[in-house]
Amino acid sequence: MTPIQALQKYFGYSAFRHQQEAIIGQVLSGHDVMALMPTGGGKSLCYQLPAVLLPGLTIVISPLIALMKDQVDSLNLNGIPAAYLNSAQTPDEQRDIISRLTNNQIKLLYIAPERLFGIENKLIDFLKSLPVSLFAIDEAHCISHWGHDFRPEYLMLAHLKGHFNNIPVIALTATADKLTQKDILEKLALHEPAVYVSSFNRANITYRVLPKNKSFNQLLSFLVDRNDDSGIIYCLSRKSTEALAADLKDEGYSAEAYHAGLDHATKARNQEAFLRDEVKIMVATIAFGMGINKSNVRYVVHMDMPKNIEGYYQETGRAGRDGLPSDAMLYYSPGDVIKLKNFVTLENNPEQSQILLEKLNDMAAYSELHTCRRKYLLNYFDEEAADNCGSCDICLSEFKKFDGTLIAQKALSAVYRLNQRFGLGYVVDFLRGSKSEKIRDEHKQLKTYGVGADISKAQWQRYLRELNAHGYLQITDDAYPTIKLTHKSEAVLKGLEKVELTEAQIIEEKVEEALPFEAVLLEQLKTVRLHFATLENVPAYIILSDATLLEMATYLPQSMDELRHISGFGDVKLAKYGREFLEVIKPYCIANGLSSKVKQRAPKRQSKPRSEKVNNTQKESLNLFKAGKSITEIATERGLSPMTVEGHLTQFIQTGDLEVTEFVNEDKIPAIQNAIESYGAERLAPLKEVLGDEYSYTEIKAVVSWLKREIASS
Ligand code: ADP
Ligand code: ZN
Repeated sequence: MTPIQALQKYFGYSAFRHQQEAIIGQVLSGHDVMALMPTGGGKSLCYQLPAVLLPGLTIVISPLIALMKDQVDSLNLNGIPAAYLNSAQTPDEQRDIISRLTNNQIKLLYIAPERLFGIENKLIDFLKSLPVSLFAIDEAHCISHWGHDFRPEYLMLAHLKGHFNNIPVIALTATADKLTQKDILEKLALHEPAVYVSSFNRANITYRVLPKNKSFNQLLSFLVDRNDDSGIIYCLSRKSTEALAADLKDEGYSAEAYHAGLDHATKARNQEAFLRDEVKIMVATIAFGMGINKSNVRYVVHMDMPKNIEGYYQETGRAGRDGLPSDAMLYYSPGDVIKLKNFVTLENNPEQSQILLEKLNDMAAYSELHTCRRKYLLNYFDEEAADNCGSCDICLSEFKKFDGTLIAQKALSAVYRLNQRFGLGYVVDFLRGSKSEKIRDEHKQLKTYGVGADISKAQWQRYLRELNAHGYLQITDDAYPTIKLTHKSEAVLKGLEKVELTEAQIIEEKVEEALPFEAVLLEQLKTVRLHFATLENVPAYIILSDATLLEMATYLPQSMDELRHISGFGDVKLAKYGREFLEVIKPYCIANGLSSKVKQRAPKRQSKPRSEKVNNTQKESLNLFKAGKSITEIATERGLSPMTVEGHLTQFIQTGDLEVTEFVNEDKIPAIQNAIESYGAERLAPLKEVLGDEYSYTEIKAVVSWLKREIASS
């Protein structure tokens, strides 16, 4: 069997990605290989496919039990016999695996390095008695001090070549800096290795950074359209993960916390629930995620700045492994950098501290970029890139210079009137004339109060930062940064100097042309998948990825033969699950007068046409609501959160299909209307902030929708 035949038969894919084919060729011909590929690039296949084709056993060294279990489940479902050995298994389970190994019934064995070399090399001696064809070292950067994720137990792997001299080794990692690369090759003593460095570009991830300001509200507005999506939110401290998860739950989100300080059972439970889509949001420290293979993570948020680009890149890389459009959002504050300096300063190790400090500075520079973020990331990994990627926040905005003297004067005089003693948030609220109690009464009497009400909060923040960057203002560097004037301020205030500012306009995001898909069918396919996942006791994405379901709902295959063209169906999965999916697709097509579009399927992946989906799914909620079902009932029936359903329904107030009073008590409407009239309705989070806890997002959304209708009809 050729590699490409095996790729279709065992994995259901029709083409190799990146340099997979070349890497696999080298491995099969017995060479040592080092492969650097971004997260989600498809590293596993580089040893899993050779493992199928090689005569003997492939031993995979991997740092985490969670990862092993996932990979082994997934291989077994593809009809490839695989197992792992770890300390959580009972002696019986372990004996069973040993006996299957002795009988050559296993193609891939996963183990942790400390286990391989533990208890007087007993396991090594046993493995030496087996026909071993290949060693694969996953997360190979863990062997290097230069990497950001050094694991002492990986150092034991330096003895590997000593024990298994003639067995080829493939080392894999998603970390690519030059020092780490060199270290991996040396420590593992690879023999004339072939080195492959893939492009690190993750084209389906959109990178964004926002200045941190009331980050919880920022997060809520980010999450508004993402109720049904799976995401990871990273926080710096353990405590803040728990607090944030609790706050999100209060807002109706399905969220759990994960950090190294939780007891083992809680960690395992939360992780499992996340993998199985029972929990949508994981709020975690960086302890979470390494080896998490979940392919349908739609977004990764950083509430705090990470310590280095490597970490940021790897964490954001956990989004969109399935190739569908995904988001990376970082809330950045210069205060984070100051905080992190303590973390990277190691006692008695000035050299290492210096390396870490430089990495921290690179990360801070990324956060403050005015040029393409993707280019910066790729250049960081020594890769060339175009100036404009078209899918980061910088490239999605258009910058225009304009005469900002008046704005600058308003800002500088506000700072002056506030005696240079307040922070950015306060100055902005003051300029905008916020009615909040936080603004002191004596300040509300000042003439400057409210002179900038015509400019949005986010815009003011940008302007103030820009004035700071140009030296007209100074933001102090301490724990509670305040804004002060500088020697350049006076000339501006006196009208002697003009100031240029940049205006950012967000360009409409380009929606790639994609065939529409059948949203209702997709939900039915998910139900079939869930049935199999429960049956096999694995997370749903191990059965088939979201991308595979989306393809089915798009191309509507009508036979087993056509199903074979859908990416993700190998022989075993086709035989095991194919029929059941067809039994849902065929009647759906008949009922709706649709036919197969498999012939239109280009070999490339399709992106998710968001707007189509939204329309169909909203309509469905409306129909159920009109049929007399409650929001809770609709949510349960459709497998959505009540908040999502409410979001769907409030839209129909604007179209006149529903009444505003079905969602909000009449007494509350004037206050909400008032807030909307003074703050606008572009963003809900600021409205929620002024209205306070007694008003829910749903109530606000309902009134916004109602006002739009009123305005349109007046
Ligand atoms: P990595 O270990 O590099 O982070 P994985 O090995 O987990 O990435 O692969 C990411 C996803 O891409 C998996 O769902 C995998 O099945 C899929 N994949 C790998 N190779 C291919 C291919 N040639 N065609 C289609 N999908 C692939
Ligand atoms: Zn860009």
